[in-house]
Amino acid sequence: MQEHYILGMDIGGTHFRIGAVDRRDQVHVFRKVSVKKVFHSKDPLEDLKEYLADYMEQEGLRESVDAISIGFPAVLNRERTVVLQAPNVSYMENLPVVDSLKRCFDIPVYIDRDVCMAVHYDMRQLGLPEKGILIGCYFGTGIGNVICMDGRPLLGKDGAAGELGHIPVPGRSEPCGCGNTGCMENIAGGKYLAKLCAEVYLNTPISDIFTKHGQDSQLQDFVDRIAMTVALEINILNPDYVLVGGGVTNMKDFPLPLLTEKIHSHVRKPYPDKSLQLFFTEDTDVKCVVGAGIRARNALKDTDIAGGLQF
Ligand SMILES: [Zn+2]
Repeated sequence: MQEHYILGMDIGGTHFRIGAVDRRDQVHVFRKVSVKKVFHSKDPLEDLKEYLADYMEQEGLRESVDAISIGFPAVLNRERTVVLQAPNVSYMENLPVVDSLKRCFDIPVYIDRDVCMAVHYDMRQLGLPEKGILIGCYFGTGIGNVICMDGRPLLGKDGAAGELGHIPVPGRSEPCGCGNTGCMENIAGGKYLAKLCAEVYLNTPISDIFTKHGQDSQLQDFVDRIAMTVALEINILNPDYVLVGGGVTNMKDFPLPLLTEKIHSHVRKPYPDKSLQLFFTEDTDVKCVVGAGIRARNALKDTDIAGGLQF
């Protein structure tokens, strides 16, 4: 029996990752290249189609790809067909990504936020059931957030649900990429650590910031703000499962015990605190690629194309 694959992709600000995800969620012929290698002309959609066609040809996948699935660090429309706002990949904004790729390759095409792909991967790794409420809070350069109800991410009226990084913080006025000022993302994400290195810890590479300065009040307060962000959503939703991850919490010597303690300190007592199920997730290069594969397979099952394609 011929193996069938989903082409999973993760298009970030710096790297383009791609792989063929099989029915057991294993990734094959994984590549991680500079986005500049893929997007080199003035027409990003043509560049993407050309790269995908070459990839499938070179890896012998022409006859065995059942769907394409791409994650973006972006706000997407509710229908998940167009990238609306993506500061780090702005060249993909307002293009008919899904329609154009569908027409070109004649297979189903799915796009979603990269954090949604991450949640699918983490749920599988942790063996978590779909039933119930799950939240994912990912602290990278900014803050990524997904609220899942019975395995389905909440979309919101405009597709922009789960923008937890943009909760306003009293007394703060830092300008934010979203156009507002004083958003939590600027003081509880990697941007804040970069700022500390540029203005306070001039001789410390950002990767050593917790090793060298983890006991400083500025970093303890930073961890507390991460905890407040997560606790805020826990107190609203009383979720069954809470995933916390991203580049920041995976940094060398990041104080996970302190974060755990702080989250519990901010969550309401006795519930939801007493039943809180908190998971810290690891970063891997293939996370969003495999997650994109899982996302597409779920969608194929939903549309009942599954039987014919053996998914
Ligand atoms: Zn904002």
